[in-house]
Amino acid sequence: MLSGVDDYKTDLEAMEKGADDYLIKSELTAQLLERTFRYSLKSKYLEAKLVKLAHHDSLTSLYNRSIFNELLIKTIQQSQRTGQKIALVTLDLDNFKFVNDNYGHPAGDQLLIKISQRLKHSTRSSDFVARLGGDEFSLLLKDVKNDSDFVKSVENIMDIFQEPFQIDNKSVSVTTSAGIAVFPTDAQTASELIDNSDRAMYQAKALGRNNYSFYNQKLHQEAIVKHQLELELNAAIDNNKLLLHYQPIIDLKTGNITSYEALLRWPDNKNGFRNTEEFIEVAEESSLILKIGDWVFKQACLQLNIWSEQGITDRHISINASANQFNSDDFTELVKKYVNETPDFAQKLTIEITERKPLEITSNIQIRLKVLSDLGIKFSVDDFGIGHSSISYLRAFPMDSIKIDKSIIQNILKFNEDLALCTAIIALGQALSLDVIAEGVETEEIANLLNSLDCPYAQGYLYSKPMPL
Ligand code: C2E
Ligand code: CA
Ligand code: CA
Repeated sequence: MLSGVDDYKTDLEAMEKGADDYLIKSELTAQLLERTFRYSLKSKYLEAKLVKLAHHDSLTSLYNRSIFNELLIKTIQQSQRTGQKIALVTLDLDNFKFVNDNYGHPAGDQLLIKISQRLKHSTRSSDFVARLGGDEFSLLLKDVKNDSDFVKSVENIMDIFQEPFQIDNKSVSVTTSAGIAVFPTDAQTASELIDNSDRAMYQAKALGRNNYSFYNQKLHQEAIVKHQLELELNAAIDNNKLLLHYQPIIDLKTGNITSYEALLRWPDNKNGFRNTEEFIEVAEESSLILKIGDWVFKQACLQLNIWSEQGITDRHISINASANQFNSDDFTELVKKYVNETPDFAQKLTIEITERKPLEITSNIQIRLKVLSDLGIKFSVDDFGIGHSSISYLRAFPMDSIKIDKSIIQNILKFNEDLALCTAIIALGQALSLDVIAEGVETEEIANLLNSLDCPYAQGYLYSKPMPL
């Protein structure tokens, strides 16, 4: 660097001494410019190298402690603005001393480099990975949708220690203990987050090493259970373990069956079924609901096919779909594909969308529903009366029917408010030319009252429980 500066000075002096000859002068200027350019490139390179040295751990090239702390503070500030949760994961190898003592320090260094590479590989580019010193690493996980995603990420990190590391032709196994603290649930400042993540790591060591622990175990126990359920549900779909049961919808005037609602069933190991509402809720928080939606739709079409082959042509099926199935074109494309194969199936299908988690009124979603409705598919608002009960919702989408929630129906003989609500919904249906279906009808008395209120359709245990066909 100094020789560059000296050359520069000499050239300047040469110029100042004043070579009279213009040609010589311009030749000198050209040389000078070139050298200055090279010098500035070199200094930029050196500067970048210095910055890298200051920010990165020299052995593993991961971030070092000081820059990681700065990044943590910045990310916390961002998270305060966006409301997005972040997780700080502290890792401490369980048996690194053994590796150093038995294979030597160079092998220990090799191991740290290989672990760093696997850590970088197992995280997303937006996450930060640092070596804080010795055999201690820290990771900052961002852009996470929900708590069970933190569990997924931590399990990915733990998984990198499953395979032994190849060091000098030897297979070296090492495990880690990990502690996780989440901002803002577990801490309000960067240093509190670091302390709590450390505490969680010691908790994991106390659990018997090769383990991870969340600072707030109770809060995250739920996330761990959900994550487990997601894995099991995914396997159940792939192994064709799910079933559909069907419950008839009855025309109250004639007593005839007009349609069957398909309800998802997941058999447990004790000849019973897992709670549908519970596992649907977990599926809705992940992309599994899309997989389930596809599966249910295909099964419903298969059932229509079976009836059609048996010469039964007057049966309809209602399927349940979650609002987030309409957030991308995938579901509508799938439905279109199936229905185009057998066009009259479209006339026999109703899609029920719950009002508990309503569709967003956006032009994209309106277009998707319109495309399906133009094919002949009908739409029903499920659980009406306990959610927003919004009339603008009914106007925004091509709805054909409303299902009055069972919590209202089951109370119409007990409470005047529920009777008034039910009467008003039936009138709303008549005014907007929508069919109205009363859900959860369990007694003759309720069925008779609904009939006298001119409610056209009913569904419930009085007629049949959901059953396999
Ligand atoms: P839902 O769509 O409101 O379905 C009606 C629920 O009430 C069903 O519970 C049904 O078994 C139950 N039911 C029917 N008649 C009676 C009755 O007379 N009395 C009482 N107490 N209950 C009755 P299930 O099968 O446990 O389903 C729960 C919820 O899970 C469904 O509520 C629906 O929101 C959701 N679900 C079910 N299958 C699917 C599916 O394939 N996809 C999606 N996205 N959601 C589904
Ligand atoms: Ca339903
Ligand atoms: Ca319902």
